Amino acid sequence: MTGLPNIKSLTLAQLTQTLKDWGVEGYRFDQVFRWLYQKDAASFEEMSNLSKSLRAKLAEHFVIERMTVTTVRQSEDGTRKFLFQLSDKESIESVLIPNEERQTLCISTQVGCAMACSFCLTGTLGLTRNLSHYEIVEQVMAVQRAVAPDSRITNVVYMGMGEPLHNFDNVVESVRLLIDEQALNLSKNKVTVSTSGLVPQMLKFGELLDVKLAVSLTGTTDEMRDVLIPVNRKYDLKALMQACRDYPMKRRNRITFEYTLLKGVNDSIEDAKRLIKLLEGIPSKVNLIPFNEYPGSPYQRCEDATMFRFQKYLLDRHIQANIRTSRGRDILGACGQLKAEMERKRPPKGRAAETIPASM
Ligand code: SF4
Repeated sequence: MTGLPNIKSLTLAQLTQTLKDWGVEGYRFDQVFRWLYQKDAASFEEMSNLSKSLRAKLAEHFVIERMTVTTVRQSEDGTRKFLFQLSDKESIESVLIPNEERQTLCISTQVGCAMACSFCLTGTLGLTRNLSHYEIVEQVMAVQRAVAPDSRITNVVYMGMGEPLHNFDNVVESVRLLIDEQALNLSKNKVTVSTSGLVPQMLKFGELLDVKLAVSLTGTTDEMRDVLIPVNRKYDLKALMQACRDYPMKRRNRITFEYTLLKGVNDSIEDAKRLIKLLEGIPSKVNLIPFNEYPGSPYQRCEDATMFRFQKYLLDRHIQANIRTSRGRDILGACGQLKAEMERKRPPKGRAAETIPASM
């Protein structure tokens, strides 16, 4: 342990300022960023097109840290789940979902989650802490390292543990690093940030970045959504759908609505009718998600026939509705499941599940 800070804990703006303060020529900034994020340098010594003196100065002030993957589970369907141990011994998980032309990585933004959605295992853990922007981006880099050279991550979705917009600043900086040409250089269309419905943060986020947005809807009345996604008690469906109508839509041409189908709860044709009504006037598509049951889950997966009937009802009324195939069920595929299993003997930390933070 050197006690020096991790250079990747600096934001791009902070790193730029540090190099400026050192009197480094402007064209070198990009070189440093590319070494860190595109070439994934493990040491400053590797940065062969930088002067020896700059490499030495960087090494005097910083270290380059990497996050450790502690467990990898591979599903029969090719889905891989990665568990990371953080420097404070907390753990988070990311899931790599391959399909024909894409490798989508689902990443976490918090240790646990404060939102307490009643159909989500992570919601039962409570919030322990936010991830730093480094810990968010490093999930992408570490998984890329683990799967190279055979495959390349093409898409990143912020749908793992945590409510991304509840960790606003770190998520914004991490998205900047993912899409910046000098950093990870992913296309804006390949990055999706999801929210359970934090209305003010959603609008602020839309003003700052034009990556794709997904909204976890899952209930079609306030009564239902208050139970399923308790943040609805603070920002109800009327406020949420208005925010979706007001959402700045530069490149992203529509919002994805995530709808987890729960047997006998939200899977009726009446629900489908209300869903269509809610989406009026919003460029959108719907992802229907079969519920991934976990030990002790209070809900059940709905029948396939019910799911197809629900989908057909939407399609017949010109709503694009895809059924998101359930992946990795044999490797504890639901969000938070691997972490929960690994920590089964540890009592959950953090806040009580029902409480919605006043700051949201
Ligand atoms: S569904 Fe998402 S926002 Fe809701 S508790 Fe789970 S991780 Fe948090």
